[in-house]
Amino acid sequence: MLRKHSVTGGPKKTSPIQVVLSTCAGFTLRLSATSAVRLVYALFVVRGVRGLIVFPYGDFEYPGPMTRRGVVLIVAVGVVAAAAFVVFLADPFNWLAQSEPVPSYVIAIDAGHGGRDPGAIAEDVEPNVYEKDINLAIVEMLRELVDAEPDFAAEQIRTLDIFISLEDRILQAAEAGAEVYVTIHVNSYFNADPHGIETIIDDTREQDDDAWVLAELIQSSVTEATGARDRGTRSQESYLQRATFPAVSVETGYITNPEERARLIDPAYQQQIAQGILNGIRQFIDWRYPANLSP
Ligand SMILES: [Zn+2]
Repeated sequence: MLRKHSVTGGPKKTSPIQVVLSTCAGFTLRLSATSAVRLVYALFVVRGVRGLIVFPYGDFEYPGPMTRRGVVLIVAVGVVAAAAFVVFLADPFNWLAQSEPVPSYVIAIDAGHGGRDPGAIAEDVEPNVYEKDINLAIVEMLRELVDAEPDFAAEQIRTLDIFISLEDRILQAAEAGAEVYVTIHVNSYFNADPHGIETIIDDTREQDDDAWVLAELIQSSVTEATGARDRGTRSQESYLQRATFPAVSVETGYITNPEERARLIDPAYQQQIAQGILNGIRQFIDWRYPANLSP
């Protein structure tokens, strides 16, 4: 929309709110509130939507003969206005830049079990140790680490000691636009011997599925970060097959092994697990999207 400046000689209906720019030189230059809004709007349009430019118009009137002082003043105001507009367009102080990069990758992290489903339980110690609590503690730490990455955004599936169905966990991750899905668990066995970490994917995945790469990278980085025994990666029948994105279950240790159980309830060790898992996720994203690697 392009309109000419309205130049009038006589009394004129004007906006009640006016900024009187100058009355000292035999003319009056008023910028009505409407025109001020239009001016601001036009500046945003110029910066925002290319191809659509709206020019503001003001209420400009000079009842008497124009004096030389008036002409000089009008030219001066015009030069200042033009300079301000150029500075606005060039944005030399970067006022218009976004201060934070927008996270590109949603990382779904889940604490296995919860609520009425405690997962594995160590009943031979007081107080009893529940898998669901260890899972949630590690996921809370992992969320902090994920959200600290400028291009990651964590989608924490279970945040409380509540029951969530396996279907709903995958659904929540899918609705969040998850790039990967990592669920945290603790293993158990009928005797105290086994210990160590393993990472599991579902058995519907082909050999070239990205889930294998995610599992291998997490498994190697989490065993490196913790020094735990590396039990490797494997596939088994799992609800993870519902996920269209790479999904893994990290079995972070054996609650039935007294030494490993003692480590699993230690916040310092939980932090090592979380850091190891984050490192694996980072390596996976950098492998999956090599063009986005920062220089
Ligand atoms: Zn479990």
